[in-house]
Amino acid sequence: MAFESLADKLSAAFKKLKSKGKLNETDIKEAMREVKLALLEADVNYKVVKDFVKNVSERAVGQEVLESLTPAQQVIKIVNEELTALMGGQNARLVFPSKPPCIVLMCGLQGSGKTTHSAKLAKYFKGQGRRPLLVACDVYRPAAIEQLKIVGEKAGATVFEMGQGDPVKIASEGVKYAKDHGHDLVIIDTAGRLHIDEKLMEELKNIEKTVVPNEILLVVDAMTGQDAVNVADTFNKALPITGVILTKLDSDTRGGAAISVLQVTGKPIKFSGIGEKIDDLEPFHPERMASRILGMGDVLTLIEKAQDAVDEKEAAELAKKMKENSFDMNDLLDQLRQIRKMGSLRQIVSMLPGVGNKIDEMNLDDNQFTRIEAMITSMTKAERAKPSIINPSRKRRIAAGSGTEVQDVNRLLKQFEQMKQMMKKLGGGKKGKRRMRLPP
Ligand code: GDP
Repeated sequence: MAFESLADKLSAAFKKLKSKGKLNETDIKEAMREVKLALLEADVNYKVVKDFVKNVSERAVGQEVLESLTPAQQVIKIVNEELTALMGGQNARLVFPSKPPCIVLMCGLQGSGKTTHSAKLAKYFKGQGRRPLLVACDVYRPAAIEQLKIVGEKAGATVFEMGQGDPVKIASEGVKYAKDHGHDLVIIDTAGRLHIDEKLMEELKNIEKTVVPNEILLVVDAMTGQDAVNVADTFNKALPITGVILTKLDSDTRGGAAISVLQVTGKPIKFSGIGEKIDDLEPFHPERMASRILGMGDVLTLIEKAQDAVDEKEAAELAKKMKENSFDMNDLLDQLRQIRKMGSLRQIVSMLPGVGNKIDEMNLDDNQFTRIEAMITSMTKAERAKPSIINPSRKRRIAAGSGTEVQDVNRLLKQFEQMKQMMKKLGGGKKGKRRMRLPP
């Protein structure tokens, strides 16, 4: 994931501060030097780093820090606040006009993730009750229209296309189609080039003049580091972009673009792409991103993902089963499938506080889920309902059916039994005594 190395270096700098107890100006200066180097190495724009360190230092040598009982914590708090402010403070949302449809023009270089993110946005807003229409204006690569149709289908969104005609005409016909067919969101996928050139900009300007979009979202690839910010700067000077989608934040990028884009262009990042799948899109929340960079996790996003993945009715039923201790293998299978909907194990665990750079030491193998699913689906109905009937010959059959070993089946059965014991304790203990408590 992005920011691992940055989070690593920042946490090393703060660890030194924490070990000192009381701090003086020299300690803070030294820590700020390390923070500065860490940010520069993460590809954050030089000027942005300079201003950032200046702001943090000014606040950190103030009385509130030096006289505090926990000065290192105060410094971290200031870094957190200033990082959040750098990225815009709050999540910048898409602005929907009072009269639909909302027209979103997607632009960016080839390979930045435009087509993928057009579909991700369609799926995201469909989930919020909108009726998106995808419009195929990347007419130069025949495969692009096909690709949009494929991802559009995954998003469950209609794709409007007119083959390889004039992109300006296709865009305006697309908007007309949306109005005629009750689509309240039009997402126009445009062509990209390997480099910014006159022709690309001219075409985008012409589309912009013709359809007058409500949002012009620039898609930039976080993996290109400083270049991502330079590209954003150039596009921003040529077109009135309203926001940025920063893609490939799941990859091993140093992540500096996320911190610099707003400062350099004045335009906020509205969404981030965190994988190749259709659901791998997140609204960009500066405060949550800052927490991740500082290794504090991102519990709010985790909760949102859980809310999206979990059906409330099913959850209530599950709670009832846990209470009655009638939870069986079918329920476990449902649970696993819901967790998988939230993303890969790595994505989920990386949002937990304190995990930060330790994630690489963890053995997070999504195949374990696949193996467990395979084992449960190889069980008969009776076995799933009552795993205690699974004798050695049944175990051999389940292992053979799921491509696993008998010892894997044994492990699953043992873990299942432990889970049930645990649920029994939580659900059936004396009133009030064994309730789980939230930390104060
Ligand atoms: P376009 O040329 O701008 O339309 O780019 P595409 O949408 O075709 O994406 C280019 C490549 O990047 C494809 O292989 C995508 O699967 C991949 N991609 C797009 N977004 C992401 C992302 O957020 N994370 C990762 N890992 N890959 C992505």
